[in-house]
Parts: sequence; C-alpha cells; structure tokens
Amino acid sequence: MKLTKAPDCLFCKIVAGELPAERLYEDEDILVFADISPQAPFHALLIPKEHVATLNDFGPEDVSVAGRLFLIAKSLAKEHDLPGYRVVVNTNPEGGQVVFHVHMHMLAGRQMKPGLG
Ligand code: AMP
Ligand code: ZN
Repeated sequence: MKLTKAPDCLFCKIVAGELPAERLYEDEDILVFADISPQAPFHALLIPKEHVATLNDFGPEDVSVAGRLFLIAKSLAKEHDLPGYRVVVNTNPEGGQVVFHVHMHMLAGRQMKPGLG
C-alpha cells in the first residue's frame, strides 16, 4: 500500500517513527498507540497508517481498513482482558476533533456511564 503522509501531521510522524509513542498493535495498514493524555486506565488510538484527515474523508476504497479498526479493538479487548470498552471517532471541530488524522479512541478499564452524557 502506498502511504500518503501529510507533512505537518502529528500522527503521520508517529507512524513514521519520527515521534515516540507506546505502540500497542501494528500491521501494514493500521497502528494502535496509547493516548498521551489518557481519559481511562486503557486509552488507545487506532489509526490508518495512511493520512486520512477525518471520518468524512473515508471513501469506498477505505471500507476494509475502516472495518478492521473495529476488529482490532475487539482483539485488543481480548488481549488486555477488558470486559467492556467504548470506541469514539470525534469528527471535525464541532465533533471535538483536535488532531486531523482520523482516529478511533478506545477507552476501557473504568465503568462507563450508560449513554454518552
Ligand atoms: P481528538 O480530540 O479526537 O482529535 O483526540 C486527539 C487525541 O490525541 C487526544 O486524546 C490527545 O490526548 C491525543 N494525542 C495528542 N498528541 C498525542 C501524542 N503525541 N501521542 C499520543 N496521543 C496524542
Ligand atoms: Zn496524518
């Protein structure tokens, strides 16, 4: 796969190894690393290695990678013995997105309230 890298993107730099991160999972297309400011005892970010700015920029060609993010979350839960977890994709500033390289948050290790309130 040809990797598109955006020059000033924090997460592209992590993919390239130019910035440090605690890597939890990696394959040809996907990287998972620990969030630097964890909001739960387990807080991982699951990203496509290719630079895609937001969920809105996923196209039909990305269906496989996008779907695999969920399967990897499931595998990580099993590997880390997490009975429950929450996944979130903040999209655009109005959706709380700060880093514009699409990422799935995976939060676990504390009791989540039902719903999102
Ligand atoms: P979002 O608000 O959805 O864009 O989330 C961005 C996330 O990236 C936040 O939870 C940050 O704590 C996290 N983050 C920012 N810089 C780094 C970094 N260098 N390594 C790991 N996580 C980071
Ligand atoms: Zn990027």
